[in-house]
Amino acid sequence: MQNSLHFTTFDPLRDAPEFCQLCGKRPSLFHFELAIQKLTENCRKKGFCCHICATRLVRTLERSESRQWSAEAAALKADDFDTAEFHERLESLRSVLDPK
Ligand SMILES: [Zn+2]
Repeated sequence: MQNSLHFTTFDPLRDAPEFCQLCGKRPSLFHFELAIQKLTENCRKKGFCCHICATRLVRTLERSESRQWSAEAAALKADDFDTAEFHERLESLRSVLDPK
């Protein structure tokens, strides 16, 4: 299973809660679906979220990818493969999400 995060817009007049279902503080802006594979289980969440919680969901996806890449890099390193490309991609992703 690939980890995934999907955002869509929605019709605010139909079947959408007024407030974010994650924090309950800000207005809902997006419908989201998050699917992450953990070590022992698959985590799926869906609902409506605000722009701040949307950013948190992206970070959740990034962390899950980091863990997956670390595991893959460790496996490749154990087999004597060069893991520099994995680290470059990971740092590139982090620089987009965490600009300094
Ligand atoms: Zn929120």
